[in-house]
Amino acid sequence: MANNQLEIYNSNTGEKEKFIPIESGFVGMYVCGPTVYNYVHLGNCRTFISFDVVYRYLLLLGYKVRLVRNITDVGHLESDADTGEDKITKKAKLEKLEPMEIVQKFTIDFHEVMKQFNNLPPSIEPTATGHLIEQIDLISKIISNGYAYESKGSVYFDVSKYNETYDYGGLSGRKIDELMSNTRDLDGQDEKRNPLDFALWKKASPEHLMKWSSPWSIGFPGWHLECSAMSSKYLGETFDIHGGGMDLKFPHHECEIAQGTSAHDKNPVKYWMHANMLTLNGKKMSKSLDNSILPNELFSGNNKHFSKAYHPMVVRFFMMQAHYRSTLDFTEEALNAAEKGYKKLFESLNTIDNVQLSENSSENIDEIIQSFYAAMNDDFNAPILVANIFNAVRFINLVKDGKANISSSDRDKLKKAIISFTSDVLGILPILDSKSDKVDDLMNVIIDLRTEARNNKDWKTADRIRDGLKNAGIQIKDNKDGKASWSNS
Ligand code: AMP
Ligand code: ZN
Repeated sequence: MANNQLEIYNSNTGEKEKFIPIESGFVGMYVCGPTVYNYVHLGNCRTFISFDVVYRYLLLLGYKVRLVRNITDVGHLESDADTGEDKITKKAKLEKLEPMEIVQKFTIDFHEVMKQFNNLPPSIEPTATGHLIEQIDLISKIISNGYAYESKGSVYFDVSKYNETYDYGGLSGRKIDELMSNTRDLDGQDEKRNPLDFALWKKASPEHLMKWSSPWSIGFPGWHLECSAMSSKYLGETFDIHGGGMDLKFPHHECEIAQGTSAHDKNPVKYWMHANMLTLNGKKMSKSLDNSILPNELFSGNNKHFSKAYHPMVVRFFMMQAHYRSTLDFTEEALNAAEKGYKKLFESLNTIDNVQLSENSSENIDEIIQSFYAAMNDDFNAPILVANIFNAVRFINLVKDGKANISSSDRDKLKKAIISFTSDVLGILPILDSKSDKVDDLMNVIIDLRTEARNNKDWKTADRIRDGLKNAGIQIKDNKDGKASWSNS
């Protein structure tokens, strides 16, 4: 029997749990967004696509979803902790630009890439620099609750004080004693009571570019703080789903839990979701390992890893081949297989319009459709959904070959379900390109006929073909190599 209840793997409990939103019919969801100091790579995209599918499925189920995905434009330091330069400032100095020019440039790129992948925009996309007041208020609250302290103009979260009442390390499965033994002496540690304490506010040095006034010093907020301030502002002190890449579990999300809990005495998140990493030759794709591929390098074919270009929809379809909690390795072979599968899927959608209809169907269409829901209800299992859609494709092909029957109403029902799960849930659209394979093939035949006419000095036919195409909005160009090509005029 198919599963009718959505279950989500909660990384905080390590179990699949029934999804019951805090307020019936509504879902509050927060996903950590990019730090806009560089172009997003395909690894980042995988995480955003994984949560786009989650968002899309919740919408299909009829929930009113508020998705908040932030833009980190200050506070994320080079070390991913409390030391080093701000990533955006560093890039700004390197390129001799204002930090906000860096932010603007890479936010625009991020939005373009999200659009190419057909990711839905979030309901709210708040920036860290736009929420300084909220962050300062949150720090004041944590200090007055006794879980943070000021030291030389900076403010640190008091991890051991927090751990007396709550559990620091619960999400990532770390014990505070182990964490203590792994800490090294780093810059600024002398300001802390305990090396595990993390910065909520840092006093800025005079040459620091991005800084604001606060009750403690002229400075800037800690990286983890923005997500707590913005999620509680837009989704409340406790909300339904928090997502991000697996690599953010510690320290980023652990610190978010500590901040939210110490400020409001409530666990901020009901379901934690973590997406696994995209790898290249088995290694995590990352800017720092210098093995990242940019989306546009893949779409244009202009990269050192792959011999041809891939359409964004094919890449998205490829990303659906693994469950979001499994790693996914990027190889040419897997991309080519995804391209084949993608074509087969859309061909069968054309076929379904032209099959012979019968009085009755020879297969239980409701069961096929139910299997689509069952796959997604099982912790958003996209690869199983794809497999179940291909079961439907197999059935359509049987009907086409006269080996199975389908009634008119079942045909419409099945087609609607396939389109809805493919386009609305997986976000995979047909490639609507006037230069699609079929059109290319047709045009090659016409161009060959024209070349033949020209070779035979049959100018009348050659001109008729050219003028006829011109009327249809297609321009033929005779190239220097004697061959002809075409384009939309
Ligand atoms: P960042 O801009 O570095 O904060 O990363 C943005 C998002 O991309 C975070 O949720 C990361 O966890 C995620 N991410 C980074 N590298 C990868 C990767 N190789 N595969 C999947 N997600 C990644
Ligand atoms: Zn975050």
